[in-house]
Order: sequence, then structure tokens, then C-alpha cells
Amino acid sequence: MIDRIENMERRALEEIDQATDTAALEEVRIRYMGRSGQLTALLRGMGDMAPEDRPRTGQRVNLANRTVTDALATRQRALQDAAAVVERLDITLPGRRPSIGRKHPLTLIREEVVAIFGEMGFTVADGPEIERDYYNFEALNIPANHPARDTHDTFYMGGDRVLRTHTSPVQIRVMELYPPPVRVIAPGRTYRHENPDATHAFAFHQCEGLYVAQGVSMAHLKGDLTYFARRLFGKAVKVRFRPDFFPFTEPSVDYSFSCVVCNEKGCGICKGTGWLEISGAGMVDPAVFGFVGYDSEKYTGYAFGMGLDRLAMFKYGIESIHMFLENDLRFLSQG
Ligand SMILES: [Zn+2]
Repeated sequence: MIDRIENMERRALEEIDQATDTAALEEVRIRYMGRSGQLTALLRGMGDMAPEDRPRTGQRVNLANRTVTDALATRQRALQDAAAVVERLDITLPGRRPSIGRKHPLTLIREEVVAIFGEMGFTVADGPEIERDYYNFEALNIPANHPARDTHDTFYMGGDRVLRTHTSPVQIRVMELYPPPVRVIAPGRTYRHENPDATHAFAFHQCEGLYVAQGVSMAHLKGDLTYFARRLFGKAVKVRFRPDFFPFTEPSVDYSFSCVVCNEKGCGICKGTGWLEISGAGMVDPAVFGFVGYDSEKYTGYAFGMGLDRLAMFKYGIESIHMFLENDLRFLSQG
């Protein structure tokens, strides 16, 4: 009898081991432990056994019962774990599309501005964002205590270093390095101590333009900016110049493009005026030529600035300058 039990136990354990999925394992369980299973029959038959055999045989049957029950449970867990792994490695799933980045709207507008001025013979110049006071102010005819410094409040880095408030210092660096004629644009990041609102942020982006040669006049400035405006926003755009003041240009103008959002009817973007103010421009002040050793009797030049953030806002219909800096993927993935 004991031999019968041990043989049955061995067979049960072998079959449990050979079950390759939970359905096969369930068949093994029913075969031995089910209502009419072989082990169940043995347990039931204990009552018919001779009383002197009962304790030893009963012990052995109970042991076989526990052993087979444990083996079933262990195998069940192993098969479930394996099934879970197979699920994770499901090769029928479609592949994951790698996420490809898009260009930032400011990168797009900068590339377009560089390309358009490139058509007119401008090359790109660069300068440091941590700038010396001399290049950011002094050499641009903005001495200490000049009222223009009020509108250029910035981050002071100690010593004579400041975070540049405009891209105009690149003009000085270019003219120090190269004799005329020069024709450059200088796109880049600039900083000011501003109270943030929809159109002001502590960091923004400008593009400086400088053209110095013999005989350069306001007519060139107006013609070049008009060409630029129409290449960027379309042939119908008009350009408006109004007198203004900047320490480093004389005469100075502010310039606007007719509103491309509402076609000059007046909208929220142009504040009902029909005009989008772009920035300032003018003829380079002879005093600035004095700082870089250019002969102001022989050469004249124009300079202009433009806010790249503003151009991108007008071009792409972006409502707040802060969206450029916030790294919101919903915004950045629209490019
Ligand atoms: Zn408008």
C-alpha cells in the first residue's frame, strides 16, 4: 500500500513538472486531487483499511496530499510568471515610434531672418551674452548716468560685466575687428530687468543689423527693411518710420509693419492701430564711429534692431512671450 502511494506521488510530481501551461496543470490537478481523483480516492478509502495499517498508511497519504498540493501551487506560480514575461515581450505589438524633436519657434524665425538678410548680402556675427559695460553702453554712446540706462536695467555680474541688454554691442565688436564696408546681422539672446507681462520677459531675443559703407543712407535702411518685411510677412506689408531717439543712431526712427494679423483693420495684437511696432533703427551716430576708429567723414551706416520673439509671435500667432521659455511640449510640438 505504501508503495502504491509513493508511486502515485512520484507520477503526480512528474506530471506537474511536465505541465507547460496552466490548463495542462489543471488537468493534472483534477486527475489526482479532483472529486474522482486518484489521491482523493485513496484518502476516501482510509476508512475501509485494516485498523492496524491505518496510522502509518494514513500518515503517508496525508504527506503525499501535502506534497502534491504544494507542487501544484509552486508550478502554478511559475507558469503565471512565465506567461507575464511573454506578455511583456509580446512581439505582435506595433513598434514604438521614436519621438523626433521639432525646431523651437524662435529657431524657426531666426533661421528665416538669417536667410532673408543673407539674400541681401548680410553675414551673421556673434557676441557674448555676458558683456562688458563698455560694449553694452559706453561705446554705444550711453555713458554712465545717461537716462537711456534706465530702460536698459539688467543683471549686473560684478566688475564691469553685465548680461547684455541688446545685441547692439556686437556692432562695436564687429567694427573693432573689421574695416568698412561691413554688413552683418547679429541674432541672439538678450536680458533686461523687466516686470513680466505678455510681451516682456527677463530674457528675450533680438537681431541686430549693421551696414556701413560709403554712401549708405536712410533710403537703404527703408528699402532693406521693406524687402525684409515683405519676404517674411507677404507682399502687401507696408513699413512705417517715425522719428525716435537712440543714443547710438542719429537720426533715429522706430519702425512698424502694417498688421498682418488683421490687415490693418485693428485687432488685439496691433492694439487697434493696424501697425505692429517692430523696433528701432537709424543712421549710426558719428560718435560711435569714433569709438571704433571709423572715418565718419568717409563712411555712413545704418543700424537696426528687431525683437525675434515679437516677430515669432506675429508670424505664428503666439499670445505670450513666456511660452518661448516655458518648455511646454504641447506648445513646442506644434512647430
Ligand atoms: Zn491687427
